[in-house]
Amino acid sequence: MGELVYPRRKTRAVRVGNVYVGGDHPVVVQSMITEETRNVQDCVEQIIAMHNAGCEIVRVTTPTLAEAHCLGEIQAEVRRRGYEVPLVADVHHQGGDIAVAVAGFVDKVRINPGLFVFRKPRQRTDDYTESEVQEELAAIEESLLPVIEACKARDIAMRIGVNHGSLAERLTIMHGDTPEGMVESALEYIRICEAHDYRNLIISLKASRVPVMMAANRLMARRMEELGMDYPLHLGVTEAGDGEYARIKSTAGIGTMLAEGIGDTIRVSLSEDPINEIPVCYDILQALGLRKTKVEFIACPSCGRTKFELTSVLRKVKAATQHLVGLDIAVMGCIVNGPGEMADADYGYVGKGGGVITLYRGRNPVKNVPQEEGVEALVELIKSDGRWMEPE
Ligand code: SF4
Repeated sequence: MGELVYPRRKTRAVRVGNVYVGGDHPVVVQSMITEETRNVQDCVEQIIAMHNAGCEIVRVTTPTLAEAHCLGEIQAEVRRRGYEVPLVADVHHQGGDIAVAVAGFVDKVRINPGLFVFRKPRQRTDDYTESEVQEELAAIEESLLPVIEACKARDIAMRIGVNHGSLAERLTIMHGDTPEGMVESALEYIRICEAHDYRNLIISLKASRVPVMMAANRLMARRMEELGMDYPLHLGVTEAGDGEYARIKSTAGIGTMLAEGIGDTIRVSLSEDPINEIPVCYDILQALGLRKTKVEFIACPSCGRTKFELTSVLRKVKAATQHLVGLDIAVMGCIVNGPGEMADADYGYVGKGGGVITLYRGRNPVKNVPQEEGVEALVELIKSDGRWMEPE
């Protein structure tokens, strides 16, 4: 359905370990651990737990060479325990040496263009001259080239990860603190990589404000199209916070972009245990019809017409069938507007009145049963169709 409803931007497939990002591959779910990288054993446990929860790519911060070394130990231990989860080193401040070191073993290196090369604060706000710009670009190229060579040597990926909150001073002066500045920051790094024939790139433009994040990603997609670039985009709303609003912000930003066909991998950033991010990612993808990892339940909100206690029945139906990944199951209080309201679910449980419910297969009523026997009868119907699996 997703491919029909949301035509996806054409991107190249970039390999990150044993996972591909972009191309025709499903939108990839990723996150970042919160344990300190020096606590090797704790990091290993968290990586494995997140991977078991469905995290397909895991990022680990490497602020110094000491952490870069620890990440090597972490990766070796994760592999020794039989997990092939792709690991990404997150590199920020003056990260040239660190990025080169980690490129020797990780599956992807993430750099932040705003922080990668140290520049003394200019302390002037007049526009940059052409020679000043060229001087900075030359400094960036000098620092980036060894990283490019190290990534090329192992055929690994690089994420050019621009953050709205850490744009370089030059870009802020020339473009303001804007989506245009973010896009230009990414393009500068892309051009250097391309000049050295390195194209295993994934791009991200993150912001804590959803409208900024969306404007930056839309502009990036448009600019890449104009320039004939097809790099996958990683989506996220940074510093979204915690709880319900953080999930809504992330869904608004990430979901809107995906609905516009933009985005090849996502991270929901929560100020919580990062394992909580994973189901939110999968729910966004499922809601958009891009990946199906659980039963799609369709249920009406109930109203004065409802023929049974909808919330408790929905709970029971879910408990009995939630392991049947791939099915769509509807629970409707009545059939007021016809079976079309069930959104073409595979099965329907619909209130008829008088203590009776009607079971549907697709749009067709199959039988009426007393309400008390409804859930069991639904399970029997699914079994008789050969679509039942025992829960694990
Ligand atoms: Fe009300 Fe029926 Fe609509 Fe449910 S399906 S909200 S019970 S009218």
